[in-house]
Amino acid sequence: MAQLIDGKKISQEIKDELKEKVKELKGQGIEGALAVIQVGSDPASSVYVRNKKRACEYIGIRSESYELPEDTTEKELLTLIEKLNKDPKINGILCQLPVPAHMDENKIIRTIAPEKDVDGFHTQNVGALVVGQQGFVSCTPAGVIQLLKRSGIEIAGKNCVVVGRSNIVGKPMALLMLRENATVTICHSRTADLKAMCKQADILIVAVGKPKMITAEYVKEGATVIDVGIHRQEDGKLCGDVDFEQVEPVAGAITPVPGGVGPMTIAMLMNNCVEAMAR
Ligand code: NDP
Repeated sequence: MAQLIDGKKISQEIKDELKEKVKELKGQGIEGALAVIQVGSDPASSVYVRNKKRACEYIGIRSESYELPEDTTEKELLTLIEKLNKDPKINGILCQLPVPAHMDENKIIRTIAPEKDVDGFHTQNVGALVVGQQGFVSCTPAGVIQLLKRSGIEIAGKNCVVVGRSNIVGKPMALLMLRENATVTICHSRTADLKAMCKQADILIVAVGKPKMITAEYVKEGATVIDVGIHRQEDGKLCGDVDFEQVEPVAGAITPVPGGVGPMTIAMLMNNCVEAMAR
């Protein structure tokens, strides 16, 4: 049976450590505050925003909510971000994505001051990751690294295959694994023989956005399988990009969905907020 990588437990450990750090920083007179902006009322976004605010409360930092109507203009949103950029009491700014279609997502990300970009999406932070300098790292991939490290899974020297090359998951994930000295392959929709590539992985990280696409034939015996995907099935249950029932008997270690990568994203967002505070 595969080792089950428990994201719920590990994310709780991280949040408890952060709570202590926040106490220490407060003792030195340093306060933290995260500004959370949501445009429109997409139900999934509302759930994420609520969970992020709860996590802030748990670790002891203030969160300020900006709930803007769907018909907010891009200019109004950018003006708000610029105001928050200048506000010395705010050390993190988060704009929940996706934003409505009449707004340019990239422009919004670019407007957030890099030193307050706790999502790690600003090109300056992405660039810092590429050249190995300090910056905020995208939360989901950073969470995967913590899952591996805290589960005692060796990364250095291992063959790692990342399936997916999105800007918020696949690409930063590959860069982080490289930083940890894995030998990294990135696969995507144009990869010629995905199965064969995946089968070479000691660590297979899947962020493909297709429910249960990765079956047992993609997985080498004993490999570590990290499932970033999250999908609501017709029966209301959640599943990942990996077919857990099929893959678990083959894998050496595996993340479940839910309770794997999911809870780590918010824990790492909190980590970035505390880092912003400490800076
Ligand atoms: P995107 O849709 O932005 O990217 C998907 C990637 O998978 C693309 O690079 C695409 O390739 C590749 N891909 C699609 N189909 C195939 C295929 N048949 N074979 C090989 N590669 C393929 O998704 P995200 O990166 O944003 O998210 C991935 C998954 O992770 C989703 O299920 C999402 O819900 C989940 N997620 C979970 C989070 C969490 O907190 N747990 C946070 C963020 C995302 P190409 O570039 O060629 O199009």
